[in-house]
Amino acid sequence: MPELPEVEVTRLGIAPAITGLRLQRVRLGKPLRWPLGCAPELLHGRVITGVRRRGKYLLLDLDQGAVLVLHLGMSGSVRILDKDNPPGPHDHVDLVFADRLLRLHDPRRFGALIYADSSDAPHVHKLLVKLGVEPLSEQFSPQTLKTGFQGRSVSVKQALLAGDVVVGVGNIYASEALFLAGIHPKTAAGRIGPARLAKLHAAVVQVLAQAVEKGGSSLRDFVAADGSHGHFQLSAQVYGRAGQPCRVCHAPIKHIVQGQRSTYYCAQCQH
Ligand SMILES: [Zn+2]
Repeated sequence: MPELPEVEVTRLGIAPAITGLRLQRVRLGKPLRWPLGCAPELLHGRVITGVRRRGKYLLLDLDQGAVLVLHLGMSGSVRILDKDNPPGPHDHVDLVFADRLLRLHDPRRFGALIYADSSDAPHVHKLLVKLGVEPLSEQFSPQTLKTGFQGRSVSVKQALLAGDVVVGVGNIYASEALFLAGIHPKTAAGRIGPARLAKLHAAVVQVLAQAVEKGGSSLRDFVAADGSHGHFQLSAQVYGRAGQPCRVCHAPIKHIVQGQRSTYYCAQCQH
């Protein structure tokens, strides 16, 4: 599943390629998770004025304050192609400009493209309103975690994953950040002291920023006709390494399930 770093790299890849361009045509394939919300023809002639990201949503700003919200779902990826490039069976959105197109390729069709008159429109607002602080923004601080976790008995792993305190810390990144911070994933979120929360804050920023940086090397693939991109190989410390030796202390990495999601950790390094 595309996580926040992949979506941020997608934003960095497509923003320079489509900002300022006028939409000539919108081609839709099979139905996606949510409908577009307007007749595709209504978008003809509209101009893309910028590309923002909120959590895992890409916001393609249009003139007059309107917005196209793009979500990659479970298996979606976006590329910029020549405008005459024929769609394949899993290509379900083409935003066609004068000389190029932006294509959403989404085999499982959990992704979506949604139109709204403004980002405050109720059907878009409800997607964005519950999102926590952006982890790669200046608003994210140790205090964010302190305030957000206060009094909560849920495990810190699940509190991170919930996305209402800090957004976009997906399953892999939560395990990795907790390892870096030396915090046991089952620790009650509200019981972690300020010094350890400061470590956790730094660890979250580090794992996500590293993933975005790694993805940066794939930026040119967004405009290559046969390029593939999307999921970055993270050099995981713990994730997916059950039974293998911890890279720090050599104890075998443990695997547990929390809220139906896999968690990996080192029982020696994380308390
Ligand atoms: Zn260890």
